[in-house]
Amino acid sequence: MAYNEIAYSVTGAIARIDHNRPENRNAESSTLLDELAAALDEASRDEAVRVIVIGGTGPHFSAGHDLKEGQLKRAHFTVEQRYAYEELRYLDYSLRIWDCPKPTIASVRGAAIAGGFMVANMCDLIVASDTAFFADPVCRTLGAAAVEVLVHPWVMGLRTAKDFLFTGRRMYAEEAHRIGMVNRVVADAELDAATMALAEEIAAAPPFAIKMTKRSLNRSFDIQGFRNALMAHFDTHQLSHVSQEFLAVRDRGLASAIKAGR
Ligand code: ZN
Repeated sequence: MAYNEIAYSVTGAIARIDHNRPENRNAESSTLLDELAAALDEASRDEAVRVIVIGGTGPHFSAGHDLKEGQLKRAHFTVEQRYAYEELRYLDYSLRIWDCPKPTIASVRGAAIAGGFMVANMCDLIVASDTAFFADPVCRTLGAAAVEVLVHPWVMGLRTAKDFLFTGRRMYAEEAHRIGMVNRVVADAELDAATMALAEEIAAAPPFAIKMTKRSLNRSFDIQGFRNALMAHFDTHQLSHVSQEFLAVRDRGLASAIKAGR
């Protein structure tokens, strides 16, 4: 299948899916997310593929959901419309990465913000360049209850997740590695090679054993309530989309977007 907003390639046993809107810091439009999900499905079904890498073309992994598109197309969605849109593209697509039967590696350079943070952290492993930084500022900037998929406490620990979300600050690669959210940090020039080397090492292992190991590791999180916690947060996040705080930000944003468009 042909893709416009992601780049898809298969090299040996490794499939690579890159956010491919570098002129927009790889912002995740609805098309990009649909294509990412389709590519993940294609790689999952391709018997030659054993490991899937998700990355970004250019200096950034992804600056997050395409808010300009959101302002233009979805600012006045009803509760029902927004719930359906976000349930498919944000919650369900993220869980497809988590549930992918093959191991996934996020290869992160530059920004992995909000929606980008979410996609990277639903992958099994993260290799980061020393330019990488992570942030989820939407509580402060949009008046929303974090992003749609609250993977944060599971990958960074509860107390760090609170610090990260309450302040909206950036977490750079070194700290992300120290707290265990990122597996490896390498020089930016080495990122692609280091990601491929790790992918090839995993691809050399017996694939069914890897698949069963991933199932068990993910189930150990599910037994602790991972999936139910994500489902509960998704509903809470939807509530935050209709708060006075959120609507005030939306209306300010819409006004400035209209002004900028003149
Ligand atoms: Zn949302």
